[in-house]
Amino acid sequence: MNCHAYFVMTHHEDSRNAILLRAAMDTMLDPMVMLTPLRDDDGVIVNFVTVDGNDAFFRHINTPREDYLGTPLLDTVPGQEEAGLLQAYAHAFDSGEPFIAVEVPNADEMQGGRPRLFDFYGRRALDQLVLTFRDVTDRAQERQQLEYLAYFDPLTGLHNRTWSRNELERQLTIARANGSRVGVFFLGIDNFKIVNDSLGHAAGDELLHLVGQRIADGVPDTGSCARFGSDEFLVVVPNVDDDEAIAEVADNLNAAVSEEATFAGFTVVPSVTIGVALSEPDSDASSLLRDTDSALVRAKISRRGSWQRFDNQMFADIHRRLSVEAELRTALANGEFVVFYQPIVNLTDDSVIGHEALVRWQHPERGLLGPFDFLPTAEESGLVVGIGIEVMRVVCSDIAAGRLAGSVSVNVSAVELASPRWLAGFQQTMAEHGVAADRLVVEVTETAVLSVLDAASDDLRTLRALGIGVHLDDFGTGYSSISLLRDLPVSGLKLDRRFVADLTSESEPGFAHALADGVAALMSGLNLVGIAEGIETPEQASALISQGWKFGQGYLYGRPAPLPATVPVRAE
Ligand code: C2E
Ligand code: MG
Ligand code: MG
Repeated sequence: MNCHAYFVMTHHEDSRNAILLRAAMDTMLDPMVMLTPLRDDDGVIVNFVTVDGNDAFFRHINTPREDYLGTPLLDTVPGQEEAGLLQAYAHAFDSGEPFIAVEVPNADEMQGGRPRLFDFYGRRALDQLVLTFRDVTDRAQERQQLEYLAYFDPLTGLHNRTWSRNELERQLTIARANGSRVGVFFLGIDNFKIVNDSLGHAAGDELLHLVGQRIADGVPDTGSCARFGSDEFLVVVPNVDDDEAIAEVADNLNAAVSEEATFAGFTVVPSVTIGVALSEPDSDASSLLRDTDSALVRAKISRRGSWQRFDNQMFADIHRRLSVEAELRTALANGEFVVFYQPIVNLTDDSVIGHEALVRWQHPERGLLGPFDFLPTAEESGLVVGIGIEVMRVVCSDIAAGRLAGSVSVNVSAVELASPRWLAGFQQTMAEHGVAADRLVVEVTETAVLSVLDAASDDLRTLRALGIGVHLDDFGTGYSSISLLRDLPVSGLKLDRRFVADLTSESEPGFAHALADGVAALMSGLNLVGIAEGIETPEQASALISQGWKFGQGYLYGRPAPLPATVPVRAE
């Protein structure tokens, strides 16, 4: 190759401008250099030669000015060819455009084992290229750090949710193109909350880190893993086509995690429960993540430490639940909930002392539905709070209109007790209808109270202080009945109808008698009101009377029924 150096150096040593220029250049902190191009026969720039530079430049390259001037660029800057520096310079020179941010690693200057990076800024001046450059190593590191934060989870060192969602999308695109399927595994750490709450957050973090590492070890080579939520991880594996392949991945993950470990001074065997979904040609990331989530919930219900694949039955269940939820909302707005009343009597003379309010759903197509048909869904969705307020509204307006004698008992579920707006709604409804506190009783089941003990006991105490009765419903079916009587502000209890039924049943009536007898004694000792539920026969009634039970309720005295004047309520 024939190279010509167009070396145009003008030394105006005598000129005032030149002195000023040199002074300006030498005060610059950034290195600055003037280059002149070398062209081949076709006029293509093939190298540059250094014509001049400022002090900062020669300090930077650590070579005295005299030794450096006139040296071709390609010979002096290591690795610049790969960086495309020559092309960038040539472009800047021939087009007259400045070029910015060409990052050139300088192997001579290393930082932390990596070459430092420089941004070059060039401009053509006459037939020279004037360059300044700036060390951007720190900026590049900051950018890397930002990228790290954007795509990694600092606690576990694994990728994060954003990255894994992108990765899932990417794998789905590949799978669609080649007709394969992607296995998506959603892992939840078992009992994480217990560790976090009881051993502290540091222990929780340690557990997350440990499990994260083990999951990473258990992922097949083709797959990827990420921390997806607080104690959730996502594993994405391409080319998983059948149940067998799913089982292999899931079993390996379970096995990798479930090794004994010691942390926070405890020996534990961590475990994960896994929800799995397999992509279909039309799957998208959102639908797959939703499916794995449902499968995880199912797997947790069946057994912790297990895995479960999403199937259409799950889909049908969820779909049904969602549609029931939507229907319940409409029902609330359309006033389809009605209240039936069942009398509570004095067992000695059958006189009515009050009623229990029992909700029904007058379904437009399915007819009259009992609480068991819709309360579980209403509780799961929280809609039970709204339903409870509707029931209270009917009850209070019936009391206010003089349609009911004595007190009225209303049932309250755990979800209602746990809701911060329940108590206020209850009191407001009472106040709106001007109902006196001694006309109302709240029935709570032991299970309900136990599950939300702290929140519940405060609310119940407030009710008691107002003079509203609190009865423990279905007494005897829970686990800590007697201690609850001591700890909770209850004014009465309702013996579960199972024990009443057992009183006159052929098999083992002895236990039922002993229990009814014992509870009756306990009640009189604690000065509680006792009501026996589900009395269907005169024999049951007389057995209860002889044991000292004063009040009762059951088909023998009256089934739950609407008041003649009851009108469906409409939510405003
Ligand atoms: P519960 O509070 O224990 O209500 C008594 C249940 O026993 C009622 O069932 C009633 O119809 C039934 N029952 C009454 N006497 C007899 C009898 O002699 N024999 C038999 N076999 N059963 C009898 P229901 O109305 O189906 O209510 C079921 C449960 O639903 C109630 O149990 C209560 O826990 C809940 N519930 C009812 N209404 C409401 C409500 O408005 N809000 C809430 N949160 N729960 C309610
Ligand atoms: Mg009840
Ligand atoms: Mg009951």
